[in-house]
Amino acid sequence: MQLIETINEMSQVATAAVRRNKTIAFVPTMGFLHQGHLSLMAHARGLADILVASIFVNPTQFGPNEDLDRYPRALESDSQKCRDQGVDYLFFPQSQEMYPDGWQTTVNVSRVTANLCGKNRPVHFTGVATVVLKLFNIIKPTLTVFGEKDYQQLVTIRRMVKDLNLEVDVVGQPTVREPDGLAMSSRNVHLSTEERRSALSLSASLARARDMVAAGARATAPIIADLTSFITNHPHTNPDYVSLVDPETLEDLNVIETGALLALAVKVGQTRLIDNCILSVS
Ligand code: AMP
Repeated sequence: MQLIETINEMSQVATAAVRRNKTIAFVPTMGFLHQGHLSLMAHARGLADILVASIFVNPTQFGPNEDLDRYPRALESDSQKCRDQGVDYLFFPQSQEMYPDGWQTTVNVSRVTANLCGKNRPVHFTGVATVVLKLFNIIKPTLTVFGEKDYQQLVTIRRMVKDLNLEVDVVGQPTVREPDGLAMSSRNVHLSTEERRSALSLSASLARARDMVAAGARATAPIIADLTSFITNHPHTNPDYVSLVDPETLEDLNVIETGALLALAVKVGQTRLIDNCILSVS
């Protein structure tokens, strides 16, 4: 595996690979890698000739009062994990090179970013779409793999790819969980023992909602009220949103007809966690 720090070198490697008719799979991450990230790499490894992963804690997707400064970092152990997954090139650009003085162009995906995380994190998805398009232009992937854990992000990237006619296949992968159900996240490291226990209220809510829908519940308001009080009955929890939305438009649903995305964002102590699942009506 080759470590690449500069845009120029990464771009040259990618251009040479494309000229040799090699396919490139790309997995973008912010590092502090866990099994969720590694599952994306393992899947991507089987889909293309060359596997590129990136580690970049992208400052433009963090709001002023968010956790950019305390986002965990571990480049050395991350490199080893990437090597073990068969990554060919690990790209870890510097912020100053990605956003040099004078940069001013952004990508704004409007409607699918309006609800859920976009409501309270207004700059977030513009930062995500912009950095992902930049990374696509540098790495020139044939395909890219994203986790369903960040469902709104996946929908946003698919929308950008379609709207801007980008020639990259976007592949989604299921959420990897701890044995007790907690969705793996780099941010889980911040949870105290008690907060870790309360964090289980997110995945437990998904199961609770599935049971309610299986028992015939269709109106979304009572389901949302039930889940919100279930979560807040756990200490240190503060829900940002509990939403049932159309899985494609991400707009709120009043009634579940064929299916819905249940999406949750909950602050547990100082740590903001998200989780989601698709609820299907059979
Ligand atoms: P991040 O480093 O949090 O920006 O995530 C990088 C990629 O890993 C994104 O496509 C995420 O959706 C994905 N990811 C993060 N956590 C998980 C997980 N628990 N299971 C599957 N994919 C994940």
